[in-house]
Amino acid sequence: MPDILIVGGGLAGIAAAAEAAREGWTVTLVEGHPYLGGRARSFMDRTTNEVIDNGQHAMMGCYHAMLGTLRILGTDHLIHRQPALKVAFADAAGRTDMLDASKAPGKFGVALGIWRLKHLPLRSRIAALWFAARMQYGGIRTDGMTCLDLLRAEGQPYDVIHRLWEPIILATLNAPMDKAAASLLLTVLRRAFFGDAENSCLYLPSAGLSAFVEPLEDLLTAGGGRVLTSTSVEACTTSDGRIADALLTTGEVIVVDRIVFAVPARSLHRITVDGNTFPLGSVPEPSPIVSVYLWYDQQWLEHDFVATLDTTIQWVFNRRLLTKADPNVVTSYPGHVAVTVSAGSELAGRSSEEIVTVCDQELRSLFPSARNAVLLHGVVLKERMATFLATPEVEPLRPSAALPWPNAALAGDWTATGLPATMEGACQSGVDAVRLLA
Ligand SMILES: Cc1cc2nc3c(=O)[nH]c(=O)nc-3n(C[C@H](O)[C@H](O)[C@H](O)COP(=O)(O)OP(=O)(O)OC[C@H]3O[C@@H](n4cnc5c(N)ncnc54)[C@H](O)[C@@H]3O)c2cc1C
Repeated sequence: MPDILIVGGGLAGIAAAAEAAREGWTVTLVEGHPYLGGRARSFMDRTTNEVIDNGQHAMMGCYHAMLGTLRILGTDHLIHRQPALKVAFADAAGRTDMLDASKAPGKFGVALGIWRLKHLPLRSRIAALWFAARMQYGGIRTDGMTCLDLLRAEGQPYDVIHRLWEPIILATLNAPMDKAAASLLLTVLRRAFFGDAENSCLYLPSAGLSAFVEPLEDLLTAGGGRVLTSTSVEACTTSDGRIADALLTTGEVIVVDRIVFAVPARSLHRITVDGNTFPLGSVPEPSPIVSVYLWYDQQWLEHDFVATLDTTIQWVFNRRLLTKADPNVVTSYPGHVAVTVSAGSELAGRSSEEIVTVCDQELRSLFPSARNAVLLHGVVLKERMATFLATPEVEPLRPSAALPWPNAALAGDWTATGLPATMEGACQSGVDAVRLLA
């Protein structure tokens, strides 16, 4: 059985490692940080003693590669699964609405859900359904287009664009509509809404993200492999046109049979091959995500999550309904929500105190039930390099898994997966990289 070295312990590297271990390969995984998970990890908030993530993450039923990885790790039971797509919307005028796809099977349920949206006039709902039908049956072209270009070309009225498509675009592409690649939006919508009913359901972590990948070390060790954390690969050398060995920051040299580089582009640039910079194109521009965790003296939100309209904040997740917490923590902090702001460059420039105030005030104006709640604690997390900025110009530049050396492959959410920079893209790239080397 082959040996494989995986560089990077984010989800791409973890998916690659799990897939290789499943095939019976001996896997060594090297991760620069002291923890696994990369941009999808959790830690303990010291004030509340509650585990939080580096930002609220959401999955969908169409995350087949990620679900496959979690099944290998035996942690897919930690997912909170919606039985059918249901998304609540709340706007600054205090109105709420619900996209409920549970009333009919599969894509018909989604169509019926759109049809029954109260906050969109009839003309707008017809336009949205027409676009959905064209997505499935028509020949929509997206060459070089942004999402906004596409939505306008498809005759989508202003209210549908801003009240239906924009929350989806921000959440899935982490880019403003006038910058995000339309091709990625179509892929996401087709995958989520035109397959099995389950594909469109939102899946949310019921435990800290790090718990999902915890069994990896035991899995690799059982196969004769190992996980090295706080250790980076800094240089590789080649022999006969193959990667021959990898030098770690600890000074150890690992002889390479096969290798997957599952690190972001900017990290790859720091790894040398035969003393030269890694042969790679440009590093894509990053796009930040701002996440805010707030604890209240009461549980004031009835929904499990809500898309918010006409506000700085975009999504609110009710952590008390979605995640399991220590009963003592729940007693001390009965209300706990996570707020996310994707493509949050403007917000990321403000102070944490200011961001907490903005979020708290907007929540109180969106949800009358929050008005008497006392804010006990807030944590602001600014992930400035959350994902790459997925513009139409960047799409053709994303590199494929194949590298100049036949025993090496590339993985990561930024590679040419055809998907946005998501946990699913990362996992799919990891699995594909291992299959390329099989
Ligand atoms: C706040 C936030 C919210 C998000 N929300 C969602 C969401 O709701 N849904 C969704 O699907 N996705 C979401 N994402 C995106 C998702 O987290 C990422 O797409 C995914 O985790 C990327 O995984 P990766 O393995 O490609 O990269 P990374 O997670 O960056 O992993 C790369 C790893 O390589 C390590 N490394 C780098 N150089 C070296 C080296 N030389 N040697 C050894 N190790 C090295 C790094 O330390 C890192 O751990 C979100 C991201 C953020 C930040």
